[in-house]
Amino acid sequence: MRGAQGGCSADCVVEVEVFVPGVGLKKLGAEELNYGYRSSQLQGQGGIVTQVVLQLQPGQDRERIREQTRQNFHHRHQTQPYHLPSCGSVFRNPLEHPAGWLIDRSGLKGFRIGQAQVSELHANFILNLGGAQAREIYMLIQAIREQVAEKWSVLLEPEVKMLGEFS
Ligand SMILES: Cc1cc2nc3c(=O)[nH]c(=O)nc-3n(C[C@H](O)[C@H](O)[C@H](O)COP(=O)(O)OP(=O)(O)OC[C@H]3O[C@@H](n4cnc5c(N)ncnc54)[C@H](O)[C@@H]3O)c2cc1C
Repeated sequence: MRGAQGGCSADCVVEVEVFVPGVGLKKLGAEELNYGYRSSQLQGQGGIVTQVVLQLQPGQDRERIREQTRQNFHHRHQTQPYHLPSCGSVFRNPLEHPAGWLIDRSGLKGFRIGQAQVSELHANFILNLGGAQAREIYMLIQAIREQVAEKWSVLLEPEVKMLGEFS
């Protein structure tokens, strides 16, 4: 499954314990979680994860692990905006092209509504320039979807959850 550095947490999940209202505690094996790209059985079923069992691979070379961590950290800070608040990646990556590429090629880097702005560094990030309203971020998400759909016939799906009314 596609995630940062080509991996994701699903790769090492063995078992999850979930508290389901009206049912109680349940244990689900990784295969029962129906993991997919940015999706799992846990979404929308209203349970609360209380425990996770992970299978990790012991690393051999402590210095090599540190160096790899440094490189990953450096790469992130070179390619993603960490100088201002954001919610991370806004849209799922369609199969055609990464969302950031489509938004960038639609000329939307730097485009802003109020205090919400498409990052100049990574177009799949929306930055809060200070005091951005949820409505401004919502309107920017809709504007991006419209323009990318118009230019590329691709309808971007938000990866973020939007709570509340925005009409
Ligand atoms: C700058 C930035 C970069 C990011 N980069 C990445 C990235 O590279 N890859 C990536 O995958 N994500 C990325 N994210 C997203 C980030 O991983 C998630 O926002 C974070 O993991 C959410 O965890 P949280 O504990 O804050 O959950 P919350 O924000 O509190 O919750 C997130 C969702 O999980 C649900 N939830 C939380 N706890 C439980 C629980 N115990 N049981 C059931 N449901 C629960 C909540 O209801 C909500 O729907 C990034 C975010 C930011 C801000």
